[in-house]
Formats: sequence, C-alpha cells, structure tokens
Amino acid sequence: QGAIAFKDVHFHYDPDRPILKGVSFEVPAGKTVAVVGPSGAGKSTISRLLYRFYDVQKGSITIDGQDVRDVTQKSLRAAIGMVPQDTVLFNDTIAYNIRYGRPGAAEEDIVQAAEIAQISHFIKDLPEGFETKVGERGLKLSGGEKQRVAIARTVLKAPPILILDEATSALDTTTEHEIQSALDIVSKNRTTLVIAHRLSTVVGADEIIVLKGGEIAERGSHAELLEQN
Ligand code: ADP
Ligand code: ADP
Repeated sequence: QGAIAFKDVHFHYDPDRPILKGVSFEVPAGKTVAVVGPSGAGKSTISRLLYRFYDVQKGSITIDGQDVRDVTQKSLRAAIGMVPQDTVLFNDTIAYNIRYGRPGAAEEDIVQAAEIAQISHFIKDLPEGFETKVGERGLKLSGGEKQRVAIARTVLKAPPILILDEATSALDTTTEHEIQSALDIVSKNRTTLVIAHRLSTVVGADEIIVLKGGEIAERGSHAELLEQN
C-alpha cells in the first residue's frame, strides 16, 4: 500500500527557472527510495510536490495509481508521515507533541510510541523555552531527542507513506547513527522516500536517485552508484 509514481514531472517556482525537468521514478509499496543531490537540486521540492504543497506543471504524481490532485488534502495528510530536518515543538508536554494531530489517540498508544522512540523518561516534560503555570522551566532537548519526538509522532500516526527529509542531517555522527537505526525500524514495510545530501547515509535504500540540473543523473543501488563513481 502507498506505491508512489512520479511520471515526467516538470516543476518551477519561477517560470524562468525550471527546478524539475521531466523526473520519473517509482517507490514500490513498502520499499525505500532515496533522492540525493547537491543543495538546491530540488530534492525537498519532490517531497513538497508529493505532499501537494505545490502542484506539478506537467506530468503526474500518483499514489496507488491515483493522481494526488484527485485526493483530498485530508486523506493525503493522513497517508503521509514526515520526519523533517528540524522538529519544531509546541508549547505543551512532549506527550502532547507526540499526540499532535491525533487528539483522540489512546494514552497507551502514546506511551508505546514513546517507548519505541526511547523517550519515555521525558514525555511529561515541556520543551525548552516554555514554562509551566508554576514557573517550572522546559527541558532542553538535543537535536537527536527532538528527532525522537518526531519519530514517536510517526509511530503513533502509522502512515503507509513516510518522508524522511534530511532527518539526520543536523545531527552529529554518533547521534545520526542512533536516529538512523530508529528510522530504519519505523520505515520497515512502509513506502519511504528519503531526501538526503550524502550517498553514505542511504546505504540501505532499495534504489537511489541522483538529482542534478533538474534531471535524474544516475540511479541504482548504493553499490552500483559507488562503482560508477
Ligand atoms: P534541495 O532540497 O535539493 O536543496 P529545494 O527543493 O529545496 O532543493 O530547492 C530547489 C531550488 O528551488 C533552490 O534553488 C531553491 O532556492 C528554490 N526554491 C525552493 N523553494 C522555493 C520557493 N518557495 N520559491 C522559489 N524558489 C524556491
Ligand atoms: P500530522 O502529520 O501530525 O497529521 P500535519 O498534517 O499538519 O500533521 O503535518 C504532517 C507532517 O508534515 C508533520 O509531521 C509536519 O511536521 C510536516 N509538515 C507540515 N507542514 C510542513 C511544511 N510546511 N513543511 C515541512 N513539513 C511540514
């Protein structure tokens, strides 16, 4: 469930500057495809188009054969989970931040999501910058801990499609490895689109697409791409 297909996708923010010039690729249901390429290549644009923050000017994007333009914004958002580069936390407890978007979520499901993301020890705390009515200060969370909150949110949401948009790029190497193994668990059996800036962070992807100058310059497994370069 959640098979993604980009077919001859053309996109520009400004008509004088095409960003995508005929991009085609598929993410089969349950598989992981990574998009890599230099900064400004249009990688994040691909995730925004899938989420339909913008519409393509030519070509199509489908999920399970259905054009995203024919899907309601509500069901599109329900189908896609996103772990962004930097997770922004709201002025409420970490548990509330995990529950965000799903007010009806059962308490035990939140507890379980927090366990999987390994943040059970601070779900009752507030994030940094906020304080409780009695003046208790929020907790300073590291970049990795914030990403774990985003992971817990995704575990709770359990969407068929997952977008990891440079989800580990702001972290130091040790934390990056820890968060990567948590993400590997969450993305298992989910259709996953990974946006990354380095080939070394997407070793496990079923296919890697290298985006350059608005086109797919190379594609293949990690081993195949290493051979070609
Ligand atoms: P990447 O993720 O590969 O770094 P992006 O998809 O974020 O690249 O951006 C591709 C290009 O589109 C960049 O040159 C960027 O400056 C430009 N761009 C991104 N968002 C907008 C926007 N909202 N309006 C105009 N140009 C944009
Ligand atoms: P939820 O996924 O919790 O139902 P939303 O539909 O509002 O909530 O957002 C889906 C995911 O997309 C969230 O995890 C959020 O971090 C991310 N997101 C929402 N808006 C943007 C945006 N403008 N840019 C990048 N990521 C976004």
